[in-house]
Amino acid sequence: MFTASKLLAFLTSLFATVLLTLIIVTPRGEADTPSIGNPSVDTVGFRLLHEAVSGHQIIDGRHQKEVLRVVNTIPEALQPALKGTEFVNGCHPWTTKELGSCALGTYDAEGWDSDDTRGHEWANTIWISSQAVRTGKVPDVVLHEVGHAVIHNLFDDCYFPKQAEKSVKELLLRSFVHGGADPAELLADAFVVAFSVHSDDLHTHYFDDFNFKASKEVLLKLRAAVWLCSK
Ligand SMILES: [Zn+2]
Repeated sequence: MFTASKLLAFLTSLFATVLLTLIIVTPRGEADTPSIGNPSVDTVGFRLLHEAVSGHQIIDGRHQKEVLRVVNTIPEALQPALKGTEFVNGCHPWTTKELGSCALGTYDAEGWDSDDTRGHEWANTIWISSQAVRTGKVPDVVLHEVGHAVIHNLFDDCYFPKQAEKSVKELLLRSFVHGGADPAELLADAFVVAFSVHSDDLHTHYFDDFNFKASKEVLLKLRAAVWLCSK
């Protein structure tokens, strides 16, 4: 049976628990503010940003673990293109400025900033937005961005034995000339079709937007190119 003092002790501890929960929850609640829209984030260094994402202090980074979990499922064949590539859960500064919103994914070989300068610490990064995580599109968005990395790092200076006058990149891009679409974006989407392992509907933004389909032959050629150029 509760005595008055026991009841008081119980209420005190309950109050303390509620207070503690509020203290723990509040900083996380503040994390809901989109950080990239906050001007101070534009000046934050990559090292700071990196600490922030791993420390879950800003919105971008809350899903860092999930992004890295998916990164660990990238097919082995594509991994040679990712030497030293870092994956960041966030909104890439330059892309965000260009689009006026957070892109689902960005591959940045050179470290571009929102003021059009390059050579920043985040060169060789792939950025995956929280929106991509929330909508379950991370595996496909990751493959699309890894596709850009493969094109940049492996296909530029690689040649098919019987077509050595043009690089693999140039030859492959020819197969993706279509309407007003950027062939490099269609080629990056082809990586999703060629290397995705899940059975859900594929997220191929550029294929869908431009009503493009890659033939079996082209996908075969892409897989062969990855095999050839990653050796
Ligand atoms: Zn792209």
